[in-house]
Amino acid sequence: LGGSISRALQQMSNATIIDEKVLNECLNEITRALLQSDVQFKLVRDMQTNIKKIVNLDDLAAGHNKRKIIQQAIFNELCKILDPGKPSFTPKKGKTSVVMFVGLQGSGKTTTCTKYAYYHQKKGWRPALVCADTFRAGAFDQLKQNATKAKIPFYGSYTESDPVKIAVEGVERFKKESCDLIIVDTSGRHKQEAALFEEMRQVSEATKPDLVIFVMDSSIGQAAFDQAQAFKQSVSVGAVIVTKMDGHAKGGGALSAVAATKSPVIFIGTGEHMDEFEVFDVKPFVSRLLGMGDWSGFMDKIHEVVPMDQQPELLQKLSEGNFTLRIMYEQFQNILKMGPISQVFSMLPGFSAELMPKGREKESSAKIKRYMTMMDSMTNEELDSTNPKLMNESRMRRIARGSGRQVGEVMEMLEEYKRLAKVWGKMKGLKIPKKGEMSAL
Ligand code: GDP
Ligand code: MG
Repeated sequence: LGGSISRALQQMSNATIIDEKVLNECLNEITRALLQSDVQFKLVRDMQTNIKKIVNLDDLAAGHNKRKIIQQAIFNELCKILDPGKPSFTPKKGKTSVVMFVGLQGSGKTTTCTKYAYYHQKKGWRPALVCADTFRAGAFDQLKQNATKAKIPFYGSYTESDPVKIAVEGVERFKKESCDLIIVDTSGRHKQEAALFEEMRQVSEATKPDLVIFVMDSSIGQAAFDQAQAFKQSVSVGAVIVTKMDGHAKGGGALSAVAATKSPVIFIGTGEHMDEFEVFDVKPFVSRLLGMGDWSGFMDKIHEVVPMDQQPELLQKLSEGNFTLRIMYEQFQNILKMGPISQVFSMLPGFSAELMPKGREKESSAKIKRYMTMMDSMTNEELDSTNPKLMNESRMRRIARGSGRQVGEVMEMLEEYKRLAKVWGKMKGLKIPKKGEMSAL
């Protein structure tokens, strides 16, 4: 897909005369690519119309950077589709919220419920899981197993067949136990669809959730819009989570889900494990969708904000894909020193939202400084190692002692490192463009 979009843009920038016909051909090519990525036909068509309005043929003809103008216009249009204009309800720590999960069977609800609970638990919440799927055999066992692994309280029954009754009992119990995030897992498609929607409506009516999350498998394809709309019509969906983004699907269905539910995507699932869960970030998602290389904007930024003399070295390290603790340390130094380099990291999926949430820069830099203090107590071997097994418990204890921190904090810092290493690992083998080549993109 990325190939065909960049080919289309390339062909256009090679054309000596940019007229309506050339622009149309280019847009048609891009349309085909987006459809292959499961972006809904209607959304693609609307976007095409908008782009024609935005892109000024005179600008293109006047030798401005044609590819960049069009690419930017498409990028912006797709970002706009993913922004429903209002944020979803956000639960508050310490205040009871009920969150209900809905979606087709197999979409990843039960898995995602646990990920969502675990994500919040790590941040100091008191989540709890309620299994209101009484239809599928083994549903309760699955939830129980997940919850036990994550040490999250759960409620369910092997014998009761009324999902409404269980949902209400579970929510009541956890309210009494002052849990602040009560998560209700529901059953997926079964019997006839009408029965499922009715059941969902009843559970919703009885538990009065503060937020209903629609869980969607990214590989659902063009069916995404109708599915999302059908759910929205039965319960008041307020947010979307797209799962299985680790697979082949580029996730164009997410755009449909946002359009159909008028609700934002809040997280994406990137694997079967509990911690394979990321805060959704529009720009990296759209980059991936367009196959622009998640990294093209990132490289631009590097050229913009990293001092010239440090660029070759940093890029070399990135392309080797060996993200050591020392590189993390150096990048932290840069962030604290330069300020604007944080823009660099905001281009990386999973980085900005997690480590440096918007509007909380002070806390973020305190955290980064804390991490660096701990890293100051590390040996050269530890800083330069690419062996994930090196950091054993006795090393962690030593680092904690040396920096006057808790072992738990050292573990947190290493977790952060692992997460970043995973993201940066994707840069392995990246062709490093020179400065001149970049601006030609
Ligand atoms: P439910 O029927 O909606 O509750 O779906 P489940 O939570 O049981 O998930 C169905 C299958 O999808 C299970 O095998 C999960 O392990 C898998 N799954 C869920 N989320 C993800 C994800 O983000 N990535 C991958 N690769 N698999 C996932
Ligand atoms: Mg389930």
